Amino acid sequence: MLDIAQRLAVVRERIRRAELVAGRRPGSVTLLAVSKTRTPEEIRSAAAAGQLRFGENYLQEALAKIEALRDASIEWHFIGRIQSNKTRAIAEHFAWVHSLSSSRHAQRLDAQRPGELPRLKVCLQVNLSGEASKEGLEPTQVADLVAQMVNFPRLELCGLMAIPAPEKELAGQREAFARLRRIRDRIATPGAPLSTLSMGMSDDLEAAIAEGSTLVRIGTAIFGPRS
Ligand SMILES: *Cc1c(COP(=O)(O)O)cnc(C)c1O
Repeated sequence: MLDIAQRLAVVRERIRRAELVAGRRPGSVTLLAVSKTRTPEEIRSAAAAGQLRFGENYLQEALAKIEALRDASIEWHFIGRIQSNKTRAIAEHFAWVHSLSSSRHAQRLDAQRPGELPRLKVCLQVNLSGEASKEGLEPTQVADLVAQMVNFPRLELCGLMAIPAPEKELAGQREAFARLRRIRDRIATPGAPLSTLSMGMSDDLEAAIAEGSTLVRIGTAIFGPRS
């Protein structure tokens, strides 16, 4: 069986190949290691192999790990569902939030971001699968929230994120990611270029990179199956 460092090397190679196949610059895709349900020791193994960005979904679990890994220079990304009573801890402990989808949460995160920290980087989460998911903005709502973001000076709007419904075939995977890219292309402005496309997971990172992903969120392929 492969260990975490070996699986990380395999994932980096998959990313490099996908960049090459897509004719994209090597290194243009950032790897976020998704560490939900993983122990601080597993995260340490990945960090020792050079992985410095980690994504967490559940706030209580994340806070315990952030505390346990204070000495490691890790950049923490919040990728889970945001609850209003959790925004302060998110604003205080994370560098990025990928799952913003309401102006109410934006307003709270903005007000609660500590002044001594850099602006909180955010992606707006878009629901690409309609009825199948309740998470994220409807495509028709994205432009409106993008426009409102100028009211939140402590937030830095970086781009869009999506979790498409699982698809077996590459063509179907690409179709969903292409939809997110087209939404971005349609609403991007010089003031809000939305240059980050947070899309692609263990089973579909090649399709996501082919469609312009700049950040893939990878759990299983790095740490093994979740129990
Ligand atoms: C769990 C999760 C991932 C990683 O999924 P894998 O299939 O394990 O790579 C990525 N993004 C989000 C939002 C997740 O919740």
